[in-house]
Formats: sequence, C-alpha cells, structure tokens
Amino acid sequence: MSVEPRGQSRSPGPAPGSIDIGGITVTPFVSSRFRLDGGSMFGVVPKVLWEKKAPPDDANRISLNSNSLLIETGGALVLVEPGMGSKYDAKQREIYGPRGGEAVTALGAMGVAPGEIDIVVLTHLHLDHAGGCTVLDAGGRAVPAFENARVMVQRLEWEAATAPHPWTRGSYRTEDFEPLAGSGLLELLDGDTDVAPGLRVELTGGHTAGHQVVRISSSGEEALFIGDIVPTMAHLKLNWLMAWDIDPVEVYGRKAALLEQCADRRALLLTAHDPELSACRLRRAGRDAYAVEDGSQLCAASPARTAANPEESDA
Ligand SMILES: [Zn+2]
Repeated sequence: MSVEPRGQSRSPGPAPGSIDIGGITVTPFVSSRFRLDGGSMFGVVPKVLWEKKAPPDDANRISLNSNSLLIETGGALVLVEPGMGSKYDAKQREIYGPRGGEAVTALGAMGVAPGEIDIVVLTHLHLDHAGGCTVLDAGGRAVPAFENARVMVQRLEWEAATAPHPWTRGSYRTEDFEPLAGSGLLELLDGDTDVAPGLRVELTGGHTAGHQVVRISSSGEEALFIGDIVPTMAHLKLNWLMAWDIDPVEVYGRKAALLEQCADRRALLLTAHDPELSACRLRRAGRDAYAVEDGSQLCAASPARTAANPEESDA
C-alpha cells in the first residue's frame, strides 16, 4: 500500500523518503528540531565520552530532532509522535531552542491535512513528544491539532502526566494534553495493544510510567519506533541512559531486549530524536552495545524532512 496523493500538489506514489515494511508505507519526517542539555541526555556518562558523539553548543546543549512517522495501513492514516509543537514562551525557547514548528506544518508539506489523520500514537506525554497534540486557536486557547484522530496513550502515562510527581512535573505541560480529555478523541490503553493492521504498541515503562514503543510488522518484515528507550543513535550502548529516566534499571532491561530483537530479526530501528539518522539497521558491537550497520543510512537525507521544514538547514 502506498501513501496516495491527498492534495492537488502531490504527485502519485509514495511520499519522498517513505519505507515499505511488508506492504505498510512508513514515512519518517522531522516535526521540529530543538536542543537539550547534553548532560541530561547522557545521565552518568562522562562528558568526555558523549561529546565525541553529540557535540554540545556553548550552552552545553546538543541538537535533537522530533522525529515523527506517517503510516498508512488498512486504510487508516496513523501519525506516530506529533513532536514538540511550537507553544513555547521566551524562557522555554531559550532553554529548548525549538525550530521548525508543528507536525501539522510538516504533514501539510506532504499534502496531508490534520483532519485526515485517523490515529495519533504517543510514546509518552513529555512536552517534546506531546506538544504537537494541540495548537493555539485564534483566541490563544490550546485545542486538539488533529480533530478527527483517536489519540492513543497508555492509561498509566495519562495518570502520571495529569497528577505528576514533583520530580517529573517539569517535563509535562497540561496544555499539551488536557484539551484532549473532554474532546472524545482520547483513547487510554492498558498495556500492549494492536492499534491498526500490522501496528502494535508495547508498554515498556522505564523512561516514564507509561512509556510505550510502536512495532510495525507485516509479511515477515519489521520496524520498531523505540521512543525514548533509545533516543538517538549515540545511545546504542546499553548503559548510556538519560537522566530523565524514572527507572534506569527498567530502561536498561527493555533496551537490551528490544535492540537484541532488532539485530536478530533484521528489523529497522526508528528513533525519536536522532538529529541525523531517523532509521537504521543494527549490528552487534561487543557484549553490551550495538552499532549502526554500514550502508543503512536509509533516512539520513530523506527529501520529506527538508520539504517539510524548508526553513530548516541546521547547518
Ligand atoms: Zn523525548
């Protein structure tokens, strides 16, 4: 199945940069770019090690993407991760340096209107993943960005976000998800769930209470959107974990199992935040690490990502 043209400006055939997973069309694209403190992204890993893989700017921030997926399966259009959106004040802009804006803008560049999205899947509700769930209306009120989409998130995550522990409160912003509560669009999941043909979410916890990953499998082919269990390709060593993880031991175990599956099954790994490479295949690199397989630069220069955000060069 291919992503058919949805606007007069689109040419027939799959969108640029799309990948076929056993007949399911997956189009990775960049919703936005931003920066986060490198220390927070690598936890206890010394800077002298991580700075070689993720060079920081003069404020110690590293470059990150909000990588999203557009998936067409079984007649449904599914958006995985609406990204961080653009509802940020001056102070937040100074901290995160968001650039590029909204998933709705990036989708528009591919000829997909927000109202055409049937399902939105969120790995979790941290601001850099859920910000794009809502947009500001003419009156400055946050409203759902995808008016016809069922928004799927784990019940555990919803509870963690709406009544956050003081330690995690800063990562959640109510304006990103509370407008969904009364909209009839919200669908709370209890554990592993099939959300569309060939598309399954799996509860991992670890990073947050209700963090989930998204598995795409069809006709013997497989891809895994691993969310914040492995945020970038610089995190392929098992013990390179983020300071944000609420349960790093749980993340370690999930990461070991998921990366082993990807390597053994030749599954495509899709990341939420890598600034260069949103998809790759893996090879083992010693006892406790994996590496990007040579020649798997599948999405390194996807035309979709530059077309979606033409103002972004990130040079
Ligand atoms: Zn994240």
